[in-house]
Amino acid sequence: MSIVKLNLSSDASLVVGPKQTVLTLIVPVYNEQNAIGPFLDAMTPILNQLVPAIAGEILFVNDGSRDGTEFAIRSFMEANPAIRLVNLSRNFGKEAALCAGLEHARGDAVIPVDVDLQDEPNIIPEMVEKWQQGAQIVNARRNDRSSDSWAKRTTARAFYRAFNALADYPIPSDVGDFRLLDRQVVDVLRTMGERVRLNKALFSWVGFKTDEVTFVRQARTQGRTTMNYWRLWGMALDGIIGSTTKPLRIWTYLGTGLGLLSLLYAMYIFFSTLLFGIDVPGYASLILLILTFGGLNLFAIGILGEYIGRILTEVRERPMFVVRSTYGAED
Ligand code: UDP
Ligand code: MG
Repeated sequence: MSIVKLNLSSDASLVVGPKQTVLTLIVPVYNEQNAIGPFLDAMTPILNQLVPAIAGEILFVNDGSRDGTEFAIRSFMEANPAIRLVNLSRNFGKEAALCAGLEHARGDAVIPVDVDLQDEPNIIPEMVEKWQQGAQIVNARRNDRSSDSWAKRTTARAFYRAFNALADYPIPSDVGDFRLLDRQVVDVLRTMGERVRLNKALFSWVGFKTDEVTFVRQARTQGRTTMNYWRLWGMALDGIIGSTTKPLRIWTYLGTGLGLLSLLYAMYIFFSTLLFGIDVPGYASLILLILTFGGLNLFAIGILGEYIGRILTEVRERPMFVVRSTYGAED
């Protein structure tokens, strides 16, 4: 860290200090007016611990909240210049809000973090330390999910199983969006234009030197989750379909196998009719075949549809989110 002294034409000399390292917390918020205060109360001392080596920046992405979330954030901004706010034009969902955050973050490293304090603030210094030791991604793994319901844990486990069995590149289980990403990683992520996305699948796809810290996931402190099972199912499908074409390819093999079997059966029927005459009973086998093949056909078309729908979304090239306004730090 050298200090450069510039000699200007007058006697004045300008001292240019070393560039400050910035850490951005990206906080997507949707109808969280009561969570903003407790979040800042918990985060501020943690970020202050890192000063002067690192300056913290808190970037809220207001994902179309309809309550007083924007008002709450802006009232805290008056006293705290390290808080910035990006308002989206409507609710685009957490994945899109996170992308908006990645786009607007200025940090040399960023950490996406939920506002409900389910992501343990106290492990942030530990994550930063691993980053300073050279890791470009520091995952935060939940080693205890007992605060989640039984159903949530079971479905989460099933998702990680299915994803890692099918996807071309695996994701670590029990690691959410809460992780430290180096600027180089963020810049790569910003070039990835896919609109239908599960960010955590992309976070591990990019590679880079990865390290890990663990924490115990707490229950939500304020408000209620807006992630119902239907929404989570949609995210899981987006993640899997965006990461693999195996569900499409299965039908090539299954279709070939069943086609061959049908051919054999057809030949058997053909010759037995020639040799032994028309065999009237056969209702059961007929219905069985119609139902099996009908069902398989519909299922395969459904899988095709899932891919085609996403192709449509991609080729339309609509932006992933729309920014209504931004506030803070001379935007
Ligand atoms: N969130 C968002 N947009 C949405 C839904 C949620 O920005 O459409 C934010 C929410 O405010 C919170 C984070 O995403 O900061 C995680 O949401 P939540 O706690 O409801 O999810 P869970 O922890 O149950 O997965
Ligand atoms: Mg939560």
